[in-house]
Amino acid sequence: MKSAHAGICRAIDEYKDAAVAISHEIHEHPELKFEERFAAGLLTQAARDFGLQVETGVGGLETAFRAEFGKSGGPTVAILAEYDALPNGHSCGHNLIACAALAAVAGLKNGARDLPGRIVFLGTPAEEGGGGKIILLERGALKGVDAAMMAHPFDGEACTMPALATRHIIISFQGRAAHAAVAPWDGSSALSAMIQLFQSVDAARLHLRDGARIHGIITNGGQAVNIIPERTECQFLARGKTSSYTKEIADRVIRCAEAAALATGTTMSHAAVGGYKNMINNRTLAHRYADHSESFGVRSPEAPTDAPTGSTDMGDISHAMPAIHPVFQVAKRGEGTCHEDAFVRHTDSEYGYAAMIRVAKSLAMTAYDLLADPELMKAAKAEFAARTES
Ligand SMILES: [Zn+2]
Ligand SMILES: [Zn+2]
Repeated sequence: MKSAHAGICRAIDEYKDAAVAISHEIHEHPELKFEERFAAGLLTQAARDFGLQVETGVGGLETAFRAEFGKSGGPTVAILAEYDALPNGHSCGHNLIACAALAAVAGLKNGARDLPGRIVFLGTPAEEGGGGKIILLERGALKGVDAAMMAHPFDGEACTMPALATRHIIISFQGRAAHAAVAPWDGSSALSAMIQLFQSVDAARLHLRDGARIHGIITNGGQAVNIIPERTECQFLARGKTSSYTKEIADRVIRCAEAAALATGTTMSHAAVGGYKNMINNRTLAHRYADHSESFGVRSPEAPTDAPTGSTDMGDISHAMPAIHPVFQVAKRGEGTCHEDAFVRHTDSEYGYAAMIRVAKSLAMTAYDLLADPELMKAAKAEFAARTES
């Protein structure tokens, strides 16, 4: 095992300059969800350059890709790449996720002789609201995969990430338009319903479990100031520690909307537009990753279960197989975190790239261990089978 690790790490060091250059290029060309043509093109070409056969347009997604190599008959581990950006650029650092995965895969391909199983390199578009991984999972891109992993930049280091489940809903109210001064009694206000909905949701917050979140925006607040608003629309994102509890929160928001419609003489309609499952961190794998991180002098402890956190479509993967989503530090605490403008420069920094290469090694060694050590795979699967979260 030791000499295999050394070979993998050496190969990653040899690949370092290429990985950093590609990550920088992706950072310089930020692309929104499902539009990551430049990034997907660079990554697939890079993988082909070190000898992989890469399939593009996987699962009907233009910017998804997949490559697989290694020995048949053994276990299969997937290393996932994200590469979409936000409107303010690579403020979530997916350029680092992509090239940590790329470098890890290069290390396993070039540095491990006689790989005792298979590695899948999966390019997953649209983590930022598009749920690319969910689509790929549903369309079979992870069929036959025993475990999955990726790593995400952050302002701290942790081998686990307690990501929340989400449910995204759109609610609209239909009222009756009338002249707001001449005949307001002939109208019913879709805006009054909307205001009541937000107030009822705020009142409901007191009764939510710790860690739950509800946040919403009004996307249509009315048509003209002198007309009783006929139609309004809003979006809510409900989040909770489990998918089942998040559904309860979303149902509560819908009941608030029904009550607001009743009170204002309007009608309400709602549509679910997706959501992510919570992240079930496989501790067996997370601890192995942390051990490897420690070998580079970087502690990667478990995140506190009440740590402030967002959501990820890796959550859905973690409900389908043992999975990890460690976070790695590219910015000091207080100097910006994910989605903030200040984070953009950290995701294209020497410090960030050094962390990316170190993390690539820890991921690659963890993946190798899973292929080479049946006991580790057995333990990870037993932990997954015993999960109680839903
Ligand atoms: Zn993000
Ligand atoms: Zn992200």
